[in-house]
Amino acid sequence: MFAACSTHIFSPLQSLFCRTQKEHPPKTEAKYVSDEFLPEESDAPFSIAIIGAGIGGLTLAIGCLKQDVSFVLYEAAARYSIIGAGVGIGPNAVRAMYMIDPKLRDMYYETSSGNLTPGKEHVMMEAMYAEEGFGEKRGCPPAPFGAECYQRTSAHRRDLLNHLTSMIPRHQVRFSKRVVDVQQLPNSVIIHFEDGETVEHTAVIGADGVKGPIRRFVLGKDFPNEVAPTYTGRYVYRFTIPIQEAQKILGNLADDAKCFMGDGVNLMAYPISRGTEYNIVAVVCKEEPWTHDKWTKKVSKEEMVADFKGKVDERLIKMLDWAEPVQWSLHHHINTPIYYNRRLCLLGDSAHGTTPHQAAGAGQGIEDALIMSHVLGKVKTPQQLTVAFEIFDSIRRPRAQRVVQTSYECGQIYSLAHPEFEDDLARIAINLNRRFLWIWEHDLELDLKKADVMFEMLTASV
Ligand SMILES: Cc1cc2nc3c(=O)[nH]c(=O)nc-3n(C[C@H](O)[C@H](O)[C@H](O)COP(=O)(O)OP(=O)(O)OC[C@H]3O[C@@H](n4cnc5c(N)ncnc54)[C@H](O)[C@@H]3O)c2cc1C
Repeated sequence: MFAACSTHIFSPLQSLFCRTQKEHPPKTEAKYVSDEFLPEESDAPFSIAIIGAGIGGLTLAIGCLKQDVSFVLYEAAARYSIIGAGVGIGPNAVRAMYMIDPKLRDMYYETSSGNLTPGKEHVMMEAMYAEEGFGEKRGCPPAPFGAECYQRTSAHRRDLLNHLTSMIPRHQVRFSKRVVDVQQLPNSVIIHFEDGETVEHTAVIGADGVKGPIRRFVLGKDFPNEVAPTYTGRYVYRFTIPIQEAQKILGNLADDAKCFMGDGVNLMAYPISRGTEYNIVAVVCKEEPWTHDKWTKKVSKEEMVADFKGKVDERLIKMLDWAEPVQWSLHHHINTPIYYNRRLCLLGDSAHGTTPHQAAGAGQGIEDALIMSHVLGKVKTPQQLTVAFEIFDSIRRPRAQRVVQTSYECGQIYSLAHPEFEDDLARIAINLNRRFLWIWEHDLELDLKKADVMFEMLTASV
């Protein structure tokens, strides 16, 4: 229905839906594009601008390709990002990948790693006290949590992003395009970039991350207090260690995913890169405002070590030798009253930025991409786009916002600060064995069926 082939000339319709306004020369529109951006010919009745090439925007782009939905992906950075270390993908999100495009899941499996010990395929992590001796003095062995429906898989973000980007035609991506403003017209949206260029699309999807600007245009008028992300009172140090080095320090504890729980601190650690690296996210809880002007803060090694000294086993302190002493503040969107505003919609962290404790944030972005691309694939007229966003909001928002909420609580559990469990590891393990099931077992097929029924009903007159 919508073109996905790669010719290099604007059709009249595409010109209408996706055109620059900087120079505005209708007959020579191809001239304004950078030499690498060559828009395709299209008879599409609408064109989507996806803002942001993170996991959310990229999986949406792959979904749009699969559903034959015309789009251009705009990214502020000059190239695809490879920032970050490990990312764990739950079975729900692996299913979503498969449903978006089976190739996507297969590529992920090529890259991902599980626990290295045979028989621990279904273990998400082993809960242990972080304290000196890892709980031995209390006679408390590691408490595994997971489920039959769960399979441990994690990848290096760089490898995952490389796979995702390899599936997206280069001519549908524009780099160094930082959105600074958007204006909704009755039948389209004008996007203004920092470099002065403007383009027009039929609708805009903001996959621009937890700090992204599109949220302001969706929520700013009716819910101004919900625009800015909230600091969670937690920051992390994130780093990787060659697995042999981790094994030298931790012995065979480094073979599998661990959740070291301490008083106000927590270290989540697991193998990535086909078992050659050990990924660590070391969380510090400090219930005081984040006053640094940036979201990351370089500190001294001594300051970093002081965050954990006396609270964790010396072996974990030794692991910090591999960490860059940079604090990454954790912000989330604990409340998002609505994900869309007419022709603008949020997706991924811009809608539901979350803490990392359930390893589910990227997975929620992938589920978003599945539902969004499926509904967009049904749209036949520009007017139906708002209906598509309404359906996306009603299916995705309750679930994704629940993930944000429960992830914050999970962080309390991991740092032994949850009022119900405190430092009772046995009760914590029982809770952890149950608390992720609703995320992992979710019926995405049913979501798609609901979307179909809603689309039929809501477009009967549109
Ligand atoms: C320490 C840590 C560990 C995590 N671990 C896991 C895990 O194990 N499993 C999991 O599922 N999730 C995990 N997450 C969450 C996960 O990383 C995020 O949910 C996910 O990466 C968000 O993807 P996104 O595409 O929505 O946003 P982002 O990755 O933030 O991408 C947004 C993109 O938009 C671009 N952009 C921003 N502003 C503009 C603009 N004005 N104009 C144009 N482009 C713009 C940015 O440059 C960026 O490329 C973790 C998070 C953290 C912090």
